Amino acid sequence: MADLDVAVVGAGFAGIYAVHAFRSAGLTVRAFEAGSGVGGTWFWNCYPGARCDVESKDHSYSFSPELEQDWSWSERYPAQPEVLRYLNHVADRFGLWPDIQLSTRVTAAAWDAARGEWTVTTDDGVSRTARFCVMATGCLSAHQVPSFPGLSSFRGPWHHTGQWPREGADFTGQRVGLVGTGSTGIQVAPEIAAVATHLYVFQRTANFAVPNRNAPVDQESDRNFKAGYREYRQRARESLLGVPVEGTGRPALAEPPAELQRTYRERWQAGGGLPLLGAYTDLLFDRAANDTIAAFIRDRIRETVADPAVAELLCPWTYPVGAKRLCQSDDYFAMFNRPNVTLVDVRSAPIVSVTPDGLRTAAGFYELDALVFATGFDAMTGALARIDIRGADGVPLTEKWAAGPRAYLGVANAGFPNMFLVTGPGSPSVLSNMVVSIEQHVEWIRDCIVYADGHGYSQVAATDEAEKAWGEHVIEVAYSTLFPLADSWYVGANIPGKVRVFSSYLAGVGSYRERCDAVAAAGYEGFTLSPVR
Ligand SMILES: Cc1cc2nc3c(=O)[nH]c(=O)nc-3n(C[C@H](O)[C@H](O)[C@H](O)COP(=O)(O)OP(=O)(O)OC[C@H]3O[C@@H](n4cnc5c(N)ncnc54)[C@H](O)[C@@H]3O)c2cc1C
Repeated sequence: MADLDVAVVGAGFAGIYAVHAFRSAGLTVRAFEAGSGVGGTWFWNCYPGARCDVESKDHSYSFSPELEQDWSWSERYPAQPEVLRYLNHVADRFGLWPDIQLSTRVTAAAWDAARGEWTVTTDDGVSRTARFCVMATGCLSAHQVPSFPGLSSFRGPWHHTGQWPREGADFTGQRVGLVGTGSTGIQVAPEIAAVATHLYVFQRTANFAVPNRNAPVDQESDRNFKAGYREYRQRARESLLGVPVEGTGRPALAEPPAELQRTYRERWQAGGGLPLLGAYTDLLFDRAANDTIAAFIRDRIRETVADPAVAELLCPWTYPVGAKRLCQSDDYFAMFNRPNVTLVDVRSAPIVSVTPDGLRTAAGFYELDALVFATGFDAMTGALARIDIRGADGVPLTEKWAAGPRAYLGVANAGFPNMFLVTGPGSPSVLSNMVVSIEQHVEWIRDCIVYADGHGYSQVAATDEAEKAWGEHVIEVAYSTLFPLADSWYVGANIPGKVRVFSSYLAGVGSYRERCDAVAAAGYEGFTLSPVR
């Protein structure tokens, strides 16, 4: 008999909820977490300025109405320490600690076909068996350090934002180089600029960013909001991206120009990326429509940045707004008006090497005391690829995914019985409010295990045909949008040599949920369920 009903890998938003949900269904469960604390993203990314870019009322669990009512967020967009406190509170409140094993990295997971169970091996050399294995390893947890020649010779400290030192890093009086200007680079830069002697921002790709208009949440609005929380959550579950957004319901291209500008201005003033992207029905589907919002944002950059040459360099031209993650910051562009900040274009003159004293580009040398890499993650597949996962017949998952990742509904892999992925490739995942998607996946997986147990099935395996058909559907939906037009981490373009596949499901979390529910209601259509031997 297996040691556990379910082994869970990871204890971020997904793993924490998985422990609670599976345990509440009467299953024995243990989560293995590489970090020395729970929280995942919100544990590791403790760099200055780290902040959620989905509002606190949305980026929080909905499974417990009591939790929802008792917890009050202090800010519209919560900073990393507050999200981490929240996740620790959840672990305390639901008594999850006995079933979470920290500082333990899963190195291998192998399906034992004869016994019908997974053997999960951890870096303490211990192996445990489990009937089911749930990968809650995160879409953005395998951080990526660029392989610049000479990095190991650098005399000063260097940090990746996704592995930030827990004791913090002090840049006071230092010349700092920042590589990476995506969501994280844009958050960390103003914080460094505030204390450093000089900040050099090495920019390869200019990014669109919109203001947060972050603000404290006052008690009255908290109370009022909570009175309708259940209905709001339901709308989030039925929405496109997991956040209810009021759009105009009209295409931008049919809008009179003055009205278009008025709408964009209103939403820009109110803050947040989703209300802008959701303003018109064609913004993510039609390049000409998207150009109208792109031009609007470029005008705001020019309005904010005093030096016209710097402003122009900060203006993105090469991809549609939203096709890369839309960044959010209240002070990134204005930061370039500080005398101690220099924008360095490493598109026209790429980084050549790191030396003991700084960074060399094709055009010059920058003397530096510290380096910060906001260079992101091997998204979607990186954390899974770093585990030696072997399915039926000993086939490694990395081999199965050699031509690109695919998973039926983004939740299960043909050839890997009783293994489930939370927000895996082929699900809405990173193109949704992740907490909504995580809760839906965990509950669907729990119901599937309970169904199998209740009907005398010991094995649940996605079929090849279902997986293939789903993969084709995901691609078909993606190519009806503007998303594939960008060289983004959504398609793996940030990782040298990675196969380019668009692996998020873009039809919306509402319709995705309906598909998943229909599969379950049909007795897990597209899965083979095998009886206990
Ligand atoms: C800086 C940053 C900001 C973000 N902001 C937002 C936002 O505003 N809105 C939003 O919706 N999403 C955001 N995201 C995405 C975010 O990852 C999700 O919102 C959510 O936190 C994911 O939870 P998770 O549990 O799926 O994954 P994670 O939080 O990544 O947790 C996965 C955990 O698995 C562990 N793990 C991985 N491999 C192993 C192994 N082999 N053995 C043991 N443990 C392992 C990791 O250590 C990690 O703790 C952000 C991501 C980043 C990096």
